[in-house]
Amino acid sequence: MVQYRETVVIGAGMAGLTVAQQLVSNGVDVLCLEKSRGTGGRLSSKRLSINLMPEDDLATQSATKTLTFDLGCSHFQVSNPQFHSQLKEWEQQGFVHQWPVMDETQTSYVGVPRNSSITRALSASIDCQFNTRVEAIDKSAEGWRVWSEASMDKPPLVVAKHLILATPPQQAQTLLPKEHALLPFMQYEMSAQWVVLLVIEGSLGLPKAFWEPDHGMIQAMSLQNVKPGRERDAGLELWQMTLTPEWTQEHLQAQKTWIADASLHAMAEIVERPARCLSHHVHRWLYAQPTQRPKSQSPFLHSTDGISVCGDYLGVENVSQGVEGAYLSGQALADFLLQSSQT
Ligand SMILES: Cc1cc2nc3c(=O)[nH]c(=O)nc-3n(C[C@H](O)[C@H](O)[C@H](O)COP(=O)(O)OP(=O)(O)OC[C@H]3O[C@@H](n4cnc5c(N)ncnc54)[C@H](O)[C@@H]3O)c2cc1C
Repeated sequence: MVQYRETVVIGAGMAGLTVAQQLVSNGVDVLCLEKSRGTGGRLSSKRLSINLMPEDDLATQSATKTLTFDLGCSHFQVSNPQFHSQLKEWEQQGFVHQWPVMDETQTSYVGVPRNSSITRALSASIDCQFNTRVEAIDKSAEGWRVWSEASMDKPPLVVAKHLILATPPQQAQTLLPKEHALLPFMQYEMSAQWVVLLVIEGSLGLPKAFWEPDHGMIQAMSLQNVKPGRERDAGLELWQMTLTPEWTQEHLQAQKTWIADASLHAMAEIVERPARCLSHHVHRWLYAQPTQRPKSQSPFLHSTDGISVCGDYLGVENVSQGVEGAYLSGQALADFLLQSSQT
């Protein structure tokens, strides 16, 4: 049966959930549709299960351990006062913590006990429908009709008065009608990025928990289980390795097994000591981070036909187009919609 909703937000990342949460707390009826199994988008986390028993003991006992990694952004910074006071509030509520990994001039933050805890907390009051990839939208007399992958040959999943696209620009562009007025303002390139998660027996002996080697392939190594609020698994190091956008672009279509082998090889060269990798996971972010600065003064887009757009890439002057940019974009859109009663 077709649902009729006031506002539909597409994308349960930082930007989409920020605007959704503000609207819901001001009494707006909101449904958030998300293609993944949970919240977070590029702030999502990944669980890996490994068996820690020696092979001889496998038949008699099982010692499966579940380990948690941040799959996208490892940690983020703040420069804007509004985001700063929001982080302080979240810190008090217990799902954000400072992580002093950079230098003394820059404080970094992480979600506790994982980065997706932030978006999970934001989503608490929101009606979210997961595993729902929006495939098509069109405007009718009743409002914006929205079809998911599963409802393509059926009536629309939902009809909404107002639609908010909170996805990376390429994914939002494919949904908008051709010649839509907002399209020219959404032409941003995003870099792709391979991320490799590694469970290491013992220690790599790296000098810092966040390390950016001067290397053509490895951009950064981030030690997951020393972040605040994370379980310190005795005898194991959990590393997130991000590969450079340039190297990723050259090997965008490579098999994941090949990426894993190449990454382990490069890591062995860098750390110059033997390391046993017990398990790994490879993920390709096709739209990891914007490569262009914001083109307009406004951190969101809105058109009078009831479509709004928010996301990290739209950005705010002198603020990173990362987590902070996504939050400020969602927040600014919510302020605009509530003030102008556009919902
Ligand atoms: C490897 C990596 C490292 C990073 N490092 C940093 C860093 O150091 N500092 C920093 O500040 N930022 C960093 N970032 C960027 C940061 O994570 C993002 O800027 C921020 O999380 C973007 O939030 P967003 O809500 O704009 O978009 P997203 O998080 O991308 O959210 C969009 C959501 O829309 C969903 N979606 C897309 N299409 C559809 C569809 N058709 N139907 C339904 N759902 C859909 C997606 O699944 C996703 O959940 C990094 C990102 C990556 C990948």
